Amino acid sequence: MLQLKREDVLLAAHASTQRDAIEQVAALLAQNGFIDPAYAQSMLEREQTATTYLAHGVAIPHGLPQHRSLVHKTGLAVLQIPEGVQWGPEKAHLLIGIASQSDEHLEILRRLTRVLGEAEKIRALHTTTSPEDIIEFLTGNRPEPEAKGLPDFPEGFEVVLPNPTGMHARPARNLVELVSTFDAQVRIRAGNRTAEASSMMDLLGLGASRGTLLHVSAQGKDAKNVLTRLKKAILEGLGDDLTEPVTETSHPALHFQASSGLQLQGLAASVGLAIGEIHQHRVLHLQVEDTPADMADETEKLQKALDQAQSELLDLAEGVRHRLGSGKAEIFQAQASLLEDPALIQQVVSTMLQGHSAAWAFQQVLNERIGQLKKLDDPVLAARAVDFSDVKDRVLGHLLGQINQSTLKLDRPVVLIAEDLTPSDTAMLDPDLILGFCTAVGGPTSHSAILARSLGIPAVVGAGRDVLSIPAGSKSILDGFSGTLYVEPSAEDIREAQTTLRNWQEELEVARAARHQPATTTDGVSIEVAANVNRASDVPAALENGAEGVGLMRTEFLFLESDHAPSEEEQYQAYRQMVEALQGKPLIVRTLDIGGDKEVGYLGLEREDNSFLGMRGIRLCFQRPDLFLPQLRAIYRAARHGPLKIMFPMVSTLEDFQKARDLAEGVRVEVGAPKVELGIMIEVPSAVMLAEELAREVDFFSIGTNDLTQYTLAMDRLHPELAHQADGLHPAVLRMIDHTVQAARKHGRWVGVCGGIAGDVEGALILTGLGVSELSVATPAVPTIKATLREKSHQDLVQLAQKALRCQTAREVRGLL
Ligand code: PEP
Ligand code: MG
Repeated sequence: MLQLKREDVLLAAHASTQRDAIEQVAALLAQNGFIDPAYAQSMLEREQTATTYLAHGVAIPHGLPQHRSLVHKTGLAVLQIPEGVQWGPEKAHLLIGIASQSDEHLEILRRLTRVLGEAEKIRALHTTTSPEDIIEFLTGNRPEPEAKGLPDFPEGFEVVLPNPTGMHARPARNLVELVSTFDAQVRIRAGNRTAEASSMMDLLGLGASRGTLLHVSAQGKDAKNVLTRLKKAILEGLGDDLTEPVTETSHPALHFQASSGLQLQGLAASVGLAIGEIHQHRVLHLQVEDTPADMADETEKLQKALDQAQSELLDLAEGVRHRLGSGKAEIFQAQASLLEDPALIQQVVSTMLQGHSAAWAFQQVLNERIGQLKKLDDPVLAARAVDFSDVKDRVLGHLLGQINQSTLKLDRPVVLIAEDLTPSDTAMLDPDLILGFCTAVGGPTSHSAILARSLGIPAVVGAGRDVLSIPAGSKSILDGFSGTLYVEPSAEDIREAQTTLRNWQEELEVARAARHQPATTTDGVSIEVAANVNRASDVPAALENGAEGVGLMRTEFLFLESDHAPSEEEQYQAYRQMVEALQGKPLIVRTLDIGGDKEVGYLGLEREDNSFLGMRGIRLCFQRPDLFLPQLRAIYRAARHGPLKIMFPMVSTLEDFQKARDLAEGVRVEVGAPKVELGIMIEVPSAVMLAEELAREVDFFSIGTNDLTQYTLAMDRLHPELAHQADGLHPAVLRMIDHTVQAARKHGRWVGVCGGIAGDVEGALILTGLGVSELSVATPAVPTIKATLREKSHQDLVQLAQKALRCQTAREVRGLL
């Protein structure tokens, strides 16, 4: 597919010679990252061999095949020279510079030869003042017009949006409400998109996802005050729970695999197993005809429909508040607020004034917004389009007098299949009748998925359109852990699924009841089960779930959730609150682990081609003492208030630890703090190989299996295809862990594991058998991990671990259990 962006087109250029023109187009290609500047020479040489002039003032300069190594990526750049430049006997007005790594330029040529017949149109491009004309002509697609690009007001600030699911309806609504209490005009800009803060629609249209830099500016009497309040409110999440993981799994996974039937794969959105008959939910698409009517009547109809929809939404919000709490209710309050949005109403009314009916105008305006959201690259924001559809259908239902036609009215329990479910649909689902649901589209961050998790309904989303043709009444098993839907499984598979589900539910209940008891094996070995927690406010939930401490506090979260590097004082407060919240239970504070996948925009760090192998963790701390030393000071000051240990991430050499220890000791003496245990993360193969030497010097090891797995197997932990193969129970990783534990044991050091595999039931058993004495896991996994360990004898686990070490594949290891 031929792609061309606005920045690839330069209009109204002048060139004195052909050489000058080629150099300019080459410079544009280089500036946009397609070629090395040296490729310009190759383009000039190519022109010596044969002209690249095509026809009607179009030339397509490109380089010689032997210089393709100078092409970074395939792409185009267009230089428009209205007065033309001499090109042999012809005059060239449009230069289409081609950077092509293989024979992709043939596709470009094919398209060009098809359009070159349209001489008239091409001549118009010689002088057009709109790059969109050129892009549309060459690619067949016209880009969206540029955003309004309203200027920022003089006073303002920049902030990074911290919300895990971006600027969706709830934070947008809260922002509008906050701003409305001040006498000031507020504008928010993300890149080149600008929103007036008085319009929810505008704010949603920003397409701001987590990490987007927002420029917030204001003018008017209260400008200063509103900016101060806004900054605080944005950093606090505008009503969103910033600590809620985007896809929280509330329990360790249950593994089920049917051996028969059709298997459809989607994304796991809400855990659980559902066993039942398929029910296909069809949305009745409302037919809106544009039948112009009396403007006064239409306006009245619109107002009535908006009022009815709004009052329904507020009732729905109230019902949801009772059942699922106020956080979930806000989804519907936000939808209700959308119906009061001045920008929305204004747009609908002005469409009506052009002679359209209220229903048609409303549909038109909403469809336009939905289209814009769906086009955004970000799946989280694209999922927000469903909220708009939800509101649209509700209002249209009233305008057209077609309500309550849903196929969601059920008389028996079913597994529901739908193209997508709106939040309203999901909130109305009766958990007694909906055993589970599976949608063809949508992602795990949609409001429907969030509601499903709260309702405890197992769900799979994005399973593809094939699910829509499964005959109603088919038997099915829906696995909300792995995101799989099995259709027409055998009776034996169904029996097995029922047993698995029953056992799992019973186990959860037993585990929950005993969550405060220690994880002591039947032969008397106690394993400490701690939680991975980053904020003091999450400590009570961890303790309530039976956590015996915090085995990993990822301090980089303080940096990721702020728009500036937190000062020593701010960090001290955060660490101290953490220590105090733990009421004497142990805490391991890990020093900054920025780099790799954790980027912090405001630190001005250089982008690296291979960031996981670059300036990450302790390496970055050595490079940036301005970050490291204040952090160490803050941690040591907090150590005066309760027990804590310090741990360094990404240690790959002995010198790394020695240097970190020396810096820490210097700081400790300086602040007059007590000595604390110093440990390291074992997450790099070299640290494993040096475990003996390291064990002599450190107080403890905590194995970061997330990274150890990626570095051992050389599989990027974020790689879309490799990540799921990167199993921490691979024998190669287990042997690394074994080596580490043996070395630590020789020198009397304890070893914990704080990577994800510690919270996996099978992982916890094998790690314990390998001699690990502390597991730090996600809070919801604590009860089950403790209960699982209590059922086994340590001796048996040692044997299990020995068997696992002898396995050849991860699958074989998992098969042992
Ligand atoms: C790990 O690598 O296993 C770990 C716990 O650290 P993080 O996931 O923060 O890199
Ligand atoms: Mg790590």
